[in-house]
Amino acid sequence: MAIHYPYECAEEKDLIQIPLAYCRNQRHFYCHRDTLPAFISLCDAAKIVDIHLVVISGFRDLAFQTELYEDAQRRHGVESASLWVAPSGHSEHHTGYALDLADKNHPETDDEPGFESTPAAAWLLANAPSHGFELSFPKDNLQGVGYEPWHWRFCGTPTARKRFHN
Ligand SMILES: [Zn+2]
Repeated sequence: MAIHYPYECAEEKDLIQIPLAYCRNQRHFYCHRDTLPAFISLCDAAKIVDIHLVVISGFRDLAFQTELYEDAQRRHGVESASLWVAPSGHSEHHTGYALDLADKNHPETDDEPGFESTPAAAWLLANAPSHGFELSFPKDNLQGVGYEPWHWRFCGTPTARKRFHN
């Protein structure tokens, strides 16, 4: 049984748009303003070794999370939906500190287990922690959530860290 913790939504004043160049298909994504400089420094470091990261999900409000959860219930069944998607009010994406990342050159692995085999995924595992990011749901995580190699949370400020580590 997957366990999802409750998270409050970031306040609007703390949200900032992620520059389109860092977003899949130039879609509009937002994150907490403390997350953005760390994310850009992460992307810039990756570019040096020819790895191109893009965001495929950032901040989510309660209504959008409800939609995603209901969709997951249709796809995976009511029982196992929470393995893959947190119920509304329980997603790290509400905080603005969580980003789903993808390899710009491998869109076929967006949000898919195959992302694990991309150059971006390997690079992130080795380098994201030094930029203040950590993988929320590694294999066999204690929360029982499905392995999500694309889902990274920013813990590089005391406030951000406190959200995830009490
Ligand atoms: Zn995510």
